[in-house]
Order: sequence, then structure tokens, then C-alpha cells
Amino acid sequence: MDIYVLVKQVPDPEANVKVKSDVELEIENKYFTNFFDEIAIEAGLKLREKFGGKVTVLTVDNKKVDALRRGIAMGADDAIQITDPALEGSDPFAIAKTLAAYLKDKPFDLILAGRQAMDDDAGIVGPGVAELLGIPHVNMIVGLEIDDPKKELKVVREVEGGKEILSCFLPALFTCQKGLNNPRIPQVMNVMKAMKAQMKKVDLAALGLSAVDVGGQAVKIKVQKYLPPPKRPPVKMIKEDFPENVKQLVKLLKEEAKVI
Ligand SMILES: Cc1cc2nc3c(=O)[nH]c(=O)nc-3n(C[C@H](O)[C@H](O)[C@H](O)COP(=O)(O)OP(=O)(O)OC[C@H]3O[C@@H](n4cnc5c(N)ncnc54)[C@H](O)[C@@H]3O)c2cc1C
Repeated sequence: MDIYVLVKQVPDPEANVKVKSDVELEIENKYFTNFFDEIAIEAGLKLREKFGGKVTVLTVDNKKVDALRRGIAMGADDAIQITDPALEGSDPFAIAKTLAAYLKDKPFDLILAGRQAMDDDAGIVGPGVAELLGIPHVNMIVGLEIDDPKKELKVVREVEGGKEILSCFLPALFTCQKGLNNPRIPQVMNVMKAMKAQMKKVDLAALGLSAVDVGGQAVKIKVQKYLPPPKRPPVKMIKEDFPENVKQLVKLLKEEAKVI
């Protein structure tokens, strides 16, 4: 099977993020591969182990390629970085358009993506790519059963209080949800191999796109304002000793915090 996995590097949840201006964030330089994308990579690798073929990780990013390196370290065969200065200012639709332009001529069987990126959380890119390519897509899958890639396959989604089982034919795109698998931890040798791996770079001209199709000129969704979360009230220390401190805590939880 020829499988493409869409991957994105996102800020580490422990990274310091500040609102720099109405429309700009200042993010500490600590990034890792989107959690749901590792699940997508794992799903691709499992299918390759069963049916043979190739897993390619693909990102749109002008700077960060560590998500591609993570893919290679986990076992992907190939890594592609779509990069171009004209991509600056892109919204989710532009990213989907760019990925679809790359994929449209490729003989893929399956495209896998994360259910959402853990930073911008739009959840648009995967379904957007599928729509632009005109292929079936199922979001947030927790199960995937393929007996024969040429025959109808089964995917499982979690719905309120139960599961939904759907079927479709390949080629298709699925976005992956926690519970589908446990991503493997790369072996040290593979991490070293990934550090040295050359990423194939593709620019917009090679995709028949230009600045008018993506980036700031093409935005359909614009950030109007970032608002920081409200400041937390200061911590209140209870000075009394036991059992007075317990009585005081219960009183505060009842009367001030109103949680009990
Ligand atoms: C070069 C560049 C410039 C940008 N400039 C701006 C800007 O000026 N202002 C701004 O607000 N935002 C900017 N962005 C962020 C961009 O709008 C978001 O990354 C994009 O909208 C994706 O939305 P999301 O992160 O919510 O992804 P989601 O739709 O939540 O992601 C779901 C899944 O789609 C796939 N995916 C998402 N993004 C990528 C990607 N880049 N490559 C491959 N697969 C992907 C992953 O599998 C991911 O799990 C820029 C991004 C890039 C790459």
C-alpha cells in the first residue's frame, strides 16, 4: 500500500506561550510532533507491515522538520517538506490546498492525518485535503480493519455512548484519534538515522501554486484577536494546624470557591 501521513510540529504543552499582540503569539522554542500524527504514523506502519508498500510523511512548514524526522525514526520510508516563503500567513484551507496539490498526482491508496493539531486545533486540514481530492474521509477513527486493500474496509469511530462502524473503499483519508493504537518508541539507531536523513523539499511552483493561492493573500479565516486566559487569583495558604486547617479548608471550599 502507498500511504501518506500528514504531520505537523506543534508547541510542547509545557512551552511558554504569551499573547504578543492582538494577532501574534510568542511561543517558546520547544516543539514536538503532534500527538495524533504519531498515531497516524503508527497506523501507516502497521498497514505496511501487513501489506508491504511505502509510508511517506509529509509536512507543510518553512522551518520545522522534526516531525518528519520523528516519522523516519519511527520507520517511515520517505519524508517530504513543502516549503515556500509565500506560505507565510496561511490559514487551514491554504495548508489543505497545498497538501492536496502535492497529492493529487500521486498513486496513493490511503492518506492518514491527526484528528486535530494540538496548537491551532482547527481539525480542518485532513477533511479539507480529502474534499479537495474528492475521496471519502472519516474523522477521528479508533479502529481500522483492512483485509484486502482492493475490497471494502471497515473503520470504527467513537460516538456518544457507543461506537459507529463505517465502510468505504480506498483511496480514502482518515483522521486518527487516541485509542487507535499506541505509537511505537523509535529505536536509538533509527533516531540517529533520522537525524542524518535528507528531507525532499518541494516548493509551490512545483505544485502549480503561487502566493495568490495560499498565504496572506488567500486567507478565508483570519485571527481577529488573541485573548490571554484570565489571571488566576493568588494562592491562599492555610496557617492553622490540624484539625483546624481541615475545617478552614472545607469552609473556604464551601463559601469562597463554592465547589462543595
Ligand atoms: C508556513 C506556514 C505559515 C503559517 N502562517 C500563519 C499565520 O500567519 N497566522 C496563523 O494564524 N497561522 C499560520 N499558520 C498556521 C496554519 O494556519 C495552521 O497550521 C493550519 O491552519 C493548520 O491548522 P491546524 O494547525 O489547526 O491543523 P488541524 O486542521 O487541526 O490539523 C489536523 C491534522 O492535519 C494535518 N496537518 C495540519 N497542519 C499540517 C501541516 N502544516 N502539514 C502537514 N499536515 C498538517 C495533521 O495531520 C494534523 O493532525 C501557518 C502555517 C504554516 C505551515
